[in-house]
Amino acid sequence: MERCIFCEINDGKIPSENKIYETENFFSILDINQDVKGHALVISKKHFSNILELPVSLGRELLDCIKGTSLKIMKDYQATGFNTINNNFDSAGQLIKHFHLHIFPRKEDDGLKIIT
Ligand code: 5GP
Ligand code: ZN
Repeated sequence: MERCIFCEINDGKIPSENKIYETENFFSILDINQDVKGHALVISKKHFSNILELPVSLGRELLDCIKGTSLKIMKDYQATGFNTINNNFDSAGQLIKHFHLHIFPRKEDDGLKIIT
C-alpha cells in the first residue's frame, strides 16, 4: 500500500501537527507554509491519490470537514471569507499524491491572488 507524508501525519508520527477538525475519515491541519496565515488542509485519513479515487459515499463527510475547518479558521484568523482549492495530478500543481483540499481564509482587500 502506498505511503506518504500525510499518511505519517495521520498515524501521529509527526507530533507538531495539531488537528483543527476531525471526522471518521478526514482531518484538517494548518499547511506547513503559512505565507497566508490560517492556510489549512483537509486530508483523507486513507491514502487516496486524488479526488477521483475518493469514494462518492464519503462526499457528505468531506463536506462536514470542509465546513467545520472553514468556520474554525475564519474565527481563529478573523477572516470574513475563504477559498477552497483542490489540486489533482502534476499538471494542476499537485505535489503530494494523497487527497487533500486547501482552505485559504480571506479578508476584505487582502490582495491575495487565487486562480479561479
Ligand atoms: P499540493 O501542491 O500537493 O496541493 O499541496 C501540498 C501542500 O502540502 C503544500 O501547500 C505544502 O506546503 C503542504 N505540506 C507539505 N508537507 C507538509 C507537512 O509536513 N505538514 C503540513 N502541515 N503541510 C505540508
Ligand atoms: Zn498517503
